[in-house]
Amino acid sequence: MDPAEFRRHGHALVDWVADYMERVASLPVTPDVEPGDIAARLPLRPPEEPEPFEAILRDLDEIVMPGITHWQSPGWFAYFPANVSGPGILGELASAGLGVQGMLWATSPACTEIELRVVDWLVDLLGLPEHFKMAVGPGGGSIQVSASDSTHLMHVVARHRSAAPADRLVAYGSSQAHFSVQRGARVAGFGHVRKVATDERHALDPGALEAAIEADVADGLVPAIVTSAVGTTGTGAVDPIGAIGAIAEAHGLWHHVDAAWAGSAMVLPEQRVHQAGVERVDSYTFNPHKWLFTNFDCNVLWVADRAPLGAALSDTAAIMRNPASESGAVVDLRDWQLPLGRRFRALKLWWVLRSYGARGLRHHVGEHLRLAGELAERVSEHPRLEHAAPTSFALVNLRHADGDEATDRLAAAINASGHSHVTASTIDERSYIRVSIGQTWTTAEHVDRLWTTIEENA
Ligand SMILES: *Cc1c(COP(=O)(O)O)cnc(C)c1O
Repeated sequence: MDPAEFRRHGHALVDWVADYMERVASLPVTPDVEPGDIAARLPLRPPEEPEPFEAILRDLDEIVMPGITHWQSPGWFAYFPANVSGPGILGELASAGLGVQGMLWATSPACTEIELRVVDWLVDLLGLPEHFKMAVGPGGGSIQVSASDSTHLMHVVARHRSAAPADRLVAYGSSQAHFSVQRGARVAGFGHVRKVATDERHALDPGALEAAIEADVADGLVPAIVTSAVGTTGTGAVDPIGAIGAIAEAHGLWHHVDAAWAGSAMVLPEQRVHQAGVERVDSYTFNPHKWLFTNFDCNVLWVADRAPLGAALSDTAAIMRNPASESGAVVDLRDWQLPLGRRFRALKLWWVLRSYGARGLRHHVGEHLRLAGELAERVSEHPRLEHAAPTSFALVNLRHADGDEATDRLAAAINASGHSHVTASTIDERSYIRVSIGQTWTTAEHVDRLWTTIEENA
C-alpha cells in the first residue's frame, strides 16, 4: 500500500468510523451470534495471494460487525464504560502512523516528554498531591497498560522493598477489591493475601484491617502492602483512604490506591472528599480509558516516590546504553514497567485533554453524575424497586423488591430490549443490577429509554 492508496483507504475508513458514530445508538448493543459463528466466516488457512483492500474493508461490515458488542452505544450501562472520543480516536491514528517505540527517552524524546507533562497535568485535574508530579517530585506518573498491571507492579515494588522472603509477605485489600489485587499479589509471589471485611456500605473496615495486620505480625508474617479502592467494581464503594493510610504508615505498609473507574470523577472538586488522605498514599492508579474519553489502553500510575519503582525495575542492558540515559538528565520509561517497548499513548490523552479542556471534562463527567442521581431518585420512588447498595458516582445499584428471580428477570428484559445493556451481579449473595452511566454520547434521552424499559418490566 503506497501513500496514495493509504490516503484513499484511510479517508474511506475515517468515513466509516464517522458513520459508525452516527448510527451506533440505533444498533442492538449486543450481537446475535453463537460461539464459533464469526470464526466460521474466516478461511482456515491464510491467504496465499494479496487481497484488495476494498475486500478487506467490506468484511468489516460483513464479518466483523455482526460480532461486535457496542461498548460505544449510548445505551451501554454494563460493567464500566470504556468510552472514546473523536480526539482519542485520532490520537490513536496519529500514534499508529508514527509507530514509535518510547522505551527510552532517546528512542523518541517527544513520546517521553509529552507523556510526563500530560500525566503531570492530570495531577492538577484530579486534585492529587503536587509531589506526584514529575516536575516537582520525588514522585512521578506514567501511562501503563491497565489498572491490573499497575496494581501488580506495586506489589512487585512492595515485595522488592521488603527484606523478608516472599512466602512470608502479606498483601491486603477489601473483600470487595478488584480481583487484580489478589492476582497481582499472587503473581508477585506473595505468600498471603487477605480479603479484609467491609462495612454496610461495602467499604473496607479499618478496624478489621488493623486486627488482620496484628494477627499476621503475631504469626511471624510480614505485612507489606494494602490496596484501597476508590470506587469498587461491584458497587462503587469507597474505602476510607485516610484511615487506611494511617494504619499503613504505623505498620510500614505500602499504600496503593485503585481508583480505576472513579478517579475520573475527581475532575470535579466536590468529589474529592472521596479521596481525602490521598496526600499520604504511596501510589495511585486510574483509567482514563474507562470514563475520561480516552481510547483503551490508557491507564495512569503515580508513585509518591520514584526511587523504589526504579530500584525494582531498572536494568542496564548493553544494547540500551546511550548518552542521554547515561547523563542522568532524562527518564527512560521502560524502567517504570515490565515490558520494554511502549506505545505513544500520551498523544491521544493529550489531544483529549486539550479538546475538552478541564471545563469540558467537568461538564461531561458532571452530566453522567447528574443522570445517575436522577435515575437513583426514580428507583427510590418506585414501589417495586430498591437500592441494592448506595449509588456511587455514576453507578446505580438496583434490585427488584420481590427478590432474586424478579431482579434477574428484569435484567434479562433490559438486555433483551436491544437498546440498553446492564450487568447483573450479586452482592451479599443477592442479585442486583448495575447501571453504570458514562458512555461519551449517553444523554437523558438514553437513560429515559432505559427507565421506560425498567418500568415496563418491574
Ligand atoms: C476496571 C477496574 C480494574 C481493572 O482495570 P484494567 O485497566 O482493565 O486492568 C481494576 N480495579 C477496579 C476498581 C476497576 O473498576
